[in-house]
Amino acid sequence: MEEQQRAEAEAHYLASLFPEDEQLLRVKQGIREAGMPEISIAPAYGQLLTLLVRSSGAEAVLEIGALGGYSGICLARGLGETGTLTSLELEAEYAALAHKHLQEAGLGGRVSYRIGDAADSLAQLEQEGGRFDFFFIDADKQGYPLYLDYALRLARPGAMIVADNTWLRGRVADPAKQGPSVQAMRRFNERMASDPRLISTLLPAYDGLAVAVVK
Ligand code: MG
Repeated sequence: MEEQQRAEAEAHYLASLFPEDEQLLRVKQGIREAGMPEISIAPAYGQLLTLLVRSSGAEAVLEIGALGGYSGICLARGLGETGTLTSLELEAEYAALAHKHLQEAGLGGRVSYRIGDAADSLAQLEQEGGRFDFFFIDADKQGYPLYLDYALRLARPGAMIVADNTWLRGRVADPAKQGPSVQAMRRFNERMASDPRLISTLLPAYDGLAVAVVK
C-alpha cells in the first residue's frame, strides 16, 4: 500500500473505533456552518486530552486557542468536580461559539474565555497570579515559543504541557522550509526536548504532538 493510502486507511480505522458522540458532532457542524477553519483535533486525540487531564488530576486547565470548543470539551471532560478550564481565543465570535458548544455539552459552567491576543491574556493571567496544572497549546504557530515561556511561568509543579501541530505536516523536518512558523516551531520543539525543567517527548502522531511535565 502506498504510504498516503496506508495513512488514510489507518485514520479511517481509528475513527471507526472512536466515533464522535453527539456533542462533538454538533461542534463540527457548528464550525462548518460558521465557516470557521475545520481544523479540530481528531476524536481519538480528544480522548487523549480527556485521559491526560483526568490522569494528571488537573484542577486548572489553560487552553491557548479555543476555535469552536472541540478540544475544550475534551479537556473539560477530564476535569474532576471542581476543575476549571480557562480558554484563550483571539476571535470573539469563535469564543462565543465555543462557549455555546460547551454549554450544550453541559460544561458551560466550567469554562471562562479570554478574548484577544493570547500574549496579552497570558501577561494578564501572570499579573493576577494565575496558576495552572495543565496547558494545551493549539494556536498561531509563531507564538508557540512565547506560549511555552508563559506555561513555564504559570505552571504549578508537576503541570503538564501538551501542544498540537508540532510537526507542521512534516515541514519542521524539511531543511528547505524556513518560514517564520517553521522556525518558531523548531525552536519550540528544541526547547520542549531539552529544557532541563521538563520531562518531555514529541510524538509523530497526527500532526505532531508534544507532551511534557514540569518537574
Ligand atoms: Mg491544531
